Amino acid sequence: MMVKGTTKNLGIIGCPVEHSLSPILQNAALQDKGLDYIYIAMPVKPESLSTAFAGMKEIGFVGFNITIPHKIAIMELLDSVDAGAKMIGAVNTVVNENGVWTGYNTDSMGFISSLKNNGVVMHDKQAVILGAGGAARAVIWGLLEEGVSKLTLVVRDREKTMPMAQHFSQRIEVEVIEWQSTELKTVLNECDILVNTTPLGMAPKVDVMPAIDMATLKNGAVVCDAIYTPIKTKFLAEAEKLGHKIINGEGMLVGQGAAAFEKWTGITPSEAVMTKALHEALLKK
Ligand code: NAP
Repeated sequence: MMVKGTTKNLGIIGCPVEHSLSPILQNAALQDKGLDYIYIAMPVKPESLSTAFAGMKEIGFVGFNITIPHKIAIMELLDSVDAGAKMIGAVNTVVNENGVWTGYNTDSMGFISSLKNNGVVMHDKQAVILGAGGAARAVIWGLLEEGVSKLTLVVRDREKTMPMAQHFSQRIEVEVIEWQSTELKTVLNECDILVNTTPLGMAPKVDVMPAIDMATLKNGAVVCDAIYTPIKTKFLAEAEKLGHKIINGEGMLVGQGAAAFEKWTGITPSEAVMTKALHEALLKK
């Protein structure tokens, strides 16, 4: 990829940002499509967010991604925030739309496209989400938009999670139970889509998994994990042993990048190219 005087700027801001895989995914996709853009990682401290954003505006960035800790703080600096990102309460993608700086949340789009790419139907299905942090909010919104008939969150602290569940309880009620609840068995027995959004099982602690009895899960339920390192968590391996279809977090990661790419360039990237670049990067880690 040759960077020239005409090259358009994209990137990601965060603190830290060095670990981000987005530059690898995005530059592979840009190169594949022969587009004259460059995507760079930019470390931005919390107190420097508004000056960094002003600088990117001045330079004429086409757009950028946002990671921890700016996903919420960026919202008040933008001209417009899309309805889904508002519901989720976080922006991970900003697009310069003819001078109107608009925020989106493509994590949600990435999760849904990864399920669709795996042939999973969500409409009228019952979903159970383990954990209720940032990734869960994107997953919840995506599943609600797709028309699930029931959504249950499994958490450590029900009281703490209730305001969030009520926020999302518009078309259907979002239920909240704790891990020890006797209701968990019934909920799993009726569950069609189970999603782990806790960090349990993420490298390097690959020997742990969320505390559920996988044997109580409904036959044929699809089991998803937001984690992508390792590629197959203990949670997914247990589910696979019992014959469940499994989906790891790789598709969500690639999907959120692909949705952002499309918003910036108007071109649909090759998810296969992005996935290959991701695999190569993870192998080197
Ligand atoms: P987060 O905001 O910190 O949320 C983590 C959630 O897990 C919280 O609800 C937390 O509960 C719960 N949790 C943490 N440790 C737990 C434990 N020992 N037992 C039970 N529950 C526990 O983190 P996040 O940003 O949502 O990220 C979660 C995972 O998703 C990470 O592994 C991350 O890498 C992955 N992720 C993947 C993608 C992707 O594109 N594939 C995108 C985003 C995130 P409390 O509220 O009680 O602490």
